[in-house]
Amino acid sequence: MKPILIVGQGLAGTILALNLRKLDLPFLIVDDGHRTSSSLVAAGLYNPLILKRGRLTWRALDFFHTCEAFFRQCEMDFGTSFLHSDGLHRRIHDTEEYNNWAALRGLPEVGSFVDGYVSAKRFPATFDLPFDTCKVKGGWLDVAAFLEAALDSFIAKEEFQKAEFAPEDVVQKEGEWSWKERTFSRIVLCTGYKSMDDKTFFPDLPFTPAKGHTMDIHWPGVALDKVIQASVFVLPLGDDTYRVGSTYSWSDFNEEVEQNEIYKLKTQLTELCDLSYTVLTERAGVRPAVKDRRPLIGESKEHKGVWHFGGFGSRAVLTCPTLSKEFIEAFMGRAVLNAEVSLDSRCP
Ligand SMILES: Cc1cc2nc3c(=O)[nH]c(=O)nc-3n(C[C@H](O)[C@H](O)[C@H](O)COP(=O)(O)OP(=O)(O)OC[C@H]3O[C@@H](n4cnc5c(N)ncnc54)[C@H](O)[C@@H]3O)c2cc1C
Repeated sequence: MKPILIVGQGLAGTILALNLRKLDLPFLIVDDGHRTSSSLVAAGLYNPLILKRGRLTWRALDFFHTCEAFFRQCEMDFGTSFLHSDGLHRRIHDTEEYNNWAALRGLPEVGSFVDGYVSAKRFPATFDLPFDTCKVKGGWLDVAAFLEAALDSFIAKEEFQKAEFAPEDVVQKEGEWSWKERTFSRIVLCTGYKSMDDKTFFPDLPFTPAKGHTMDIHWPGVALDKVIQASVFVLPLGDDTYRVGSTYSWSDFNEEVEQNEIYKLKTQLTELCDLSYTVLTERAGVRPAVKDRRPLIGESKEHKGVWHFGGFGSRAVLTCPTLSKEFIEAFMGRAVLNAEVSLDSRCP
């Protein structure tokens, strides 16, 4: 079989490629040097619950276990570590929320993902925690470290090319696609929110992208060793540094850092703890989000053999490992995509 051309080495393209490799399906992954990468801005948090609402996310049971198993296997394959699965701590704001979590613990499905309360005394005394936190299963993926380890392995196996892909550079002939003098059986676009600009293969994708900001700070004297999710999340990176995020805004879809968004992060962080810190890095990216929070997966109507694998919103880490396997089954013609994600049903 001719190789599959994957465009984009973010979380979507990388996870898809690694799952193709497990099936001995050849591929070439191309990326423009992460010029518009959402993945490199992501905090990498994953958990099966919507913490604000205290309920399970879509297909949480399927996604959660496959997600952790997938990244653990990658750690073994690459001989490095990037998955931090010690759980997440939800800051509880009032008695009503406290009682809600207590009730949720009793529900069979949700309860299995809630580890219980953790005393506020186990957090820095400088943190404003009116109640014990609620610990849920999950954690965070060091996305940059994962993508870098995967890229090294793609380069070592000659499965990667740094290049910008443009639809006008491909030619279809006898059911195959040629690009830069190579022939491919299929093309898969994993270009994040940039798929919105594609007017050739997928002109109607219903994206509602959401721009977001994070910042890394040096915060000596805090000594936080757990991930906490309040109005902002705080994620310990080691050596007194922390990642803080994220904002949501629905305009200016680019990678420019906006100081009014950074100001929002700083204000929310001060509400949790008013110890001073130094900002090390500020980042902005665009989540490839969709209003109904379901990805956009399927084949181009007009150009058979060109597929889209994207639209993972805020939950790429949790969902991509499972959905990439289902995607491969569909594009090998062995199964039909779930209607909730399939472009056939979503963009008829
Ligand atoms: C502030 C913020 C916080 C987030 N936090 C989380 C989180 O905690 N957990 C979580 O799961 N998700 C989170 N996300 C969402 C997550 O980042 C995305 O869902 C995910 O990264 C999307 O991956 P992707 O591979 O589809 O797109 P991308 O990561 O954007 O990758 C697309 C790649 O394709 C390249 N590319 C684009 N066009 C071309 C072209 N024409 N030719 C060649 N290459 C091209 C881009 O440069 C990029 O490298 C967050 C996002 C943001 C912005």
